[in-house]
Amino acid sequence: MKGIFDTHAHLSMIDKRGIAIIPKITELFASGMAGIIDIGTEADDLTKRIAAYGDFSKIWFSAGIWPSKESIENRYEAVKKLTDEINQAAPGKLAAIGECGLDRHWNNDSSGVNLVHEAELFSLQLDLAEKLNLPVIVHSRDAPEETLAVLSQFPRVQSIIHCYSYGPKEAEQFLALGSYLSFSGTLTYRNTENLKQTLAMCPKNRLLFETDSPYLAPLPFRGKTADPGMTTETYRFAAEKLKMNWEVLKKQVLENINRVFKIDLSGI
Ligand SMILES: [Zn+2]
Repeated sequence: MKGIFDTHAHLSMIDKRGIAIIPKITELFASGMAGIIDIGTEADDLTKRIAAYGDFSKIWFSAGIWPSKESIENRYEAVKKLTDEINQAAPGKLAAIGECGLDRHWNNDSSGVNLVHEAELFSLQLDLAEKLNLPVIVHSRDAPEETLAVLSQFPRVQSIIHCYSYGPKEAEQFLALGSYLSFSGTLTYRNTENLKQTLAMCPKNRLLFETDSPYLAPLPFRGKTADPGMTTETYRFAAEKLKMNWEVLKKQVLENINRVFKIDLSGI
């Protein structure tokens, strides 16, 4: 477990699924886990999450608004609320804006969601990230071209494509914009050849791993509630695919995390 870092977990959602999260993360850190980024999805969840997990020195936070119908409709109010929450947060705890982005699986022509407004909610948060000099954790589902179009309007914002789900062709375009690609447990699934090909072509200094727990548990845990410790399986799988020494891969990913999130990992 030494050196494993989960860049995307929803700790309070894991707790709601019946895994007592405080003992779980206490145990993970005791066994050498390097860190976790706890991810926000709503305008007003940061304060609550910092109150719950902020005492752990190896937990950092992101804050962002997931593109739900309600948040898209109330995008200006939502981003104002998010900004207020961020302004009140303890310095040094916030590592990124997000997750935010485009979800064309749920938000499509028949969903009644205004897609221009969805892109606007995303842009407003990229703008906020630029002002705060923070990277953005991007949720992009069934919308590679649309996501690239919005991101390219913010060349100074560093982006992380979380739970990367496209192929190498799209990856080339994201990488050209400077994005990092974060692979979840889906990398280990049998039907994701596109992800394995992407892993093989992704420069090592743009690689990240995550669980997106409680979702997407990697093999052999597929179907179970995921927890951050399961990132180990995804690292192990990637090291094998890349024919890379496991320790070298972990060290490389920690360097990437340090660079993109500006997280000080010197004590780890
Ligand atoms: Zn997520």
